[in-house]
Amino acid sequence: MTIRLVAFDLDGTIFDRHGIAPEYADTVARLATQGVHCVINSGRSVGFQLDLLTEHDLMQHFTALIGDERWVHLADTTGTEPKLQPLEPWNTEVRAGWAELGPIAEHWCGLLEEQTRQRGWASRAYDRETGQRRGIWAISVETAEGAQELATWLQPQLTGSPLACNSNGTIVHVFDAERDKGTSLAALAEHLGLRNDEVMAFGDGYNDRPMLDGRHGFASATVANANEDVKSWVRDAGGRIAGSDCGVGVAELLTEVFPPRAAATA
Ligand SMILES: [Mg+2]
Repeated sequence: MTIRLVAFDLDGTIFDRHGIAPEYADTVARLATQGVHCVINSGRSVGFQLDLLTEHDLMQHFTALIGDERWVHLADTTGTEPKLQPLEPWNTEVRAGWAELGPIAEHWCGLLEEQTRQRGWASRAYDRETGQRRGIWAISVETAEGAQELATWLQPQLTGSPLACNSNGTIVHVFDAERDKGTSLAALAEHLGLRNDEVMAFGDGYNDRPMLDGRHGFASATVANANEDVKSWVRDAGGRIAGSDCGVGVAELLTEVFPPRAAATA
């Protein structure tokens, strides 16, 4: 199957405390020249993504940025300054759904805070403005294990409801179950006229599951530093697991999927 769009989670997948690996930067630049759509799909805001990619001189290689796991923006990089255009009607539908579900999610976050108090943990929850603007409620605790424990406590209680939860590092998110990294990416693929099996997704965390576990038919991949749960979702979906961490590992797998032309014809 020919892959025409590759989506990348940011933190822990192509970006870590060392920044963005040159191996990744070189590979993504090559993919763009081959007409492959490159997309960021991250819990970080679109503004953060734009600044980071601009700082690394990479923005011109990206077709779209998906921020806060759900806001899809198409990038026009033909001018001197990149311009971002919201994907409609997707973003408006996300906002409308959240107007209804946000207050319920806020309620669940309150219960999560109560759980942290019972455990004697420090925690910090979003304020209302942040929850409404980002389209997601969140509470952060001190450890990733703690966040995962809270997500595991909440998940069964949300079964059958229009909300879902996940953990991303030390943060627990509560969100519209129909708007996650997987459905956002599927909406973008549809807009670009691509089938889901022409899409490949890279991620390393629990919040990447909707784009990694095969439910949408995307090819999937992860990096050596991902946890075992993530690796098992990717493995079970027939995806690829890199031998190296983060951006170096992503570049390794991209080179397998998109061999450099000289090497491919040698
Ligand atoms: Mg990540």
